[in-house]
Amino acid sequence: MRKGLLIVVSGASGTGKGTVCKKILADLPEVAYSISATTRKPRPSEIDGKEYYFLSVDEFKAWIAEEKFLEYAEVYGNFYGTPLNKIEERLNRGEDILLEIDVQGALNVKRKCPDGVYIFLLPPSLEELKSRIEGRGTENPESLARRLKNAVAEIKIGLEYDYAVVNDTIDNAAEQIKAILTAERLKVARNAEKFDFKEGF
Ligand code: ADP
Ligand code: 5GP
Repeated sequence: MRKGLLIVVSGASGTGKGTVCKKILADLPEVAYSISATTRKPRPSEIDGKEYYFLSVDEFKAWIAEEKFLEYAEVYGNFYGTPLNKIEERLNRGEDILLEIDVQGALNVKRKCPDGVYIFLLPPSLEELKSRIEGRGTENPESLARRLKNAVAEIKIGLEYDYAVVNDTIDNAAEQIKAILTAERLKVARNAEKFDFKEGF
């Protein structure tokens, strides 16, 4: 059986990762979303156990001690982590799993899982990035400034990824990611069993 794809999507805050990933998940029911844990407070529309598992710092530290994370990182003063949650077994069963995580976490995952698919989402411009974060209305001026200040350095780390997708429109970005997934599923290295013809004539 084909092993599932471990799909990792990163990009500077406000690029539209959450929005584009939601579309991918709606369009591709065979892809499962890895729900991260975080110590950040929920935004008004967010539900515990859906967008994130919202934990206290003590709870998060307990999960670290219990080795419950594939990776974790501190991002903008909060902890975020990918629960192990049987990821390896699920991939071996053929499930595709999508992780939407920051660059530090993604590079850690890449070291552990080099056959994952690493996709970096780029904003069309820094001006557009700023107006998207402002438009989302979730950041105070200090946190907005911090995210923008970090964006250029974060984007440079995208050079370590496999694919660069510009989020100009949600539909374009989602289509491009779907094209990447189609190509990845067709890689010879992932399809050795299809070559297993027996001499029959
Ligand atoms: P991220 O998850 O990368 O921090 P979000 O998905 O929260 O970003 O998107 C940030 C804001 O930009 C949201 O208000 C979202 O509706 C908007 N947005 C996302 N993608 C696009 C796009 N292609 N064009 C215009 N606005 C977008
Ligand atoms: P936000 O607070 O806007 O939801 O996310 C802030 C940043 O944390 C984003 O870059 C997002 O990709 C990242 N993030 C979300 N979940 C995880 C995770 O499990 N691990 C890591 N390393 N980063 C995460």
